[in-house]
Amino acid sequence: MLRRITLYLILTALLVASVVSSSCSRRGGDGGKGKLQVVTTIFPLYDFARAIGGEDVSVQLLLPPGVEPHAFDPRPEDVVRVSRADLFVYTNAEMEPWSARLFRGITGGGKPQMVEAGRGAVYLLAGRGGAVDGGHDHDHGAGRDPHIWLNIANARVMVDNIASAMGGRVPEKRGEFLANAAAYKKQLDDLERRFREGLSECRTREFIHGGHFAFAYLAQSYRLTYLSAYGITADSEPSPRRMMELAKAVREHGLKSIFFEELLAPRVAETIAAETGAELLRLHGIHNVTRGELESGASYIGLMEQNLANLRRGLGCR
Ligand SMILES: [Zn+2]
Repeated sequence: MLRRITLYLILTALLVASVVSSSCSRRGGDGGKGKLQVVTTIFPLYDFARAIGGEDVSVQLLLPPGVEPHAFDPRPEDVVRVSRADLFVYTNAEMEPWSARLFRGITGGGKPQMVEAGRGAVYLLAGRGGAVDGGHDHDHGAGRDPHIWLNIANARVMVDNIASAMGGRVPEKRGEFLANAAAYKKQLDDLERRFREGLSECRTREFIHGGHFAFAYLAQSYRLTYLSAYGITADSEPSPRRMMELAKAVREHGLKSIFFEELLAPRVAETIAAETGAELLRLHGIHNVTRGELESGASYIGLMEQNLANLRRGLGCR
């Protein structure tokens, strides 16, 4: 492990040194032609940054499509990409625990500015979302739940932080960035209203997810109760006991559906569905998207709309 880190640091230092010496100005690399260069970690940040920056900003998504984000480990070439950026936008220390290490790995002058998009967001403690069944959590101790973008009010805070950082870098475009952010936040308001109305009258307010514990913010926002098969990250297989508890909860609450997540094989959800006869529906955690989703123009708002449609179906909402 130590050897691997050492090798990583050496490779990183070499690559970054060559990048810094070959380009004095970071702006304008990668065909950006003088545009503000922004690198974001996960998909929601990428989507927000695109909406705010418009034509004036070049935005890159650091996570390769389809990569499970909690298991992501930046490669030396990722450090190089970040070192070329003007802004490096990440969510929070819990979502991207590697971000500080990556940033320290960038040597030489003119480091990008690090932007914590989740600064000022309202956090839940990991595994203890207000609406979460406290007796069933099986997380890895305290700490904040990283999945803040699944609360639309927090998404607005993230949009503001990104817009403000872009405006700070390019003051002459600040007004445009703020106007784009305001227009995008209007769309978020509308999305939030549709969630509130769409989930107001449902046959059940409980749902079971065969993935990791990503939806506490969403559950809390709309007074839903939620059980997941895995903890905050999907780093260990659910125990047979946990599987039995979930199947029992499906039967006890007469649930007609069980949800599965993106980028993780739906095997657990399938097993419980097969055992209980429940229907499988996707609930997208929107950490990252597949190449297919990216190419077909996936967006945070579009994926949230799909989530709403599936929740309404699964919970039997009017
Ligand atoms: Zn997650």
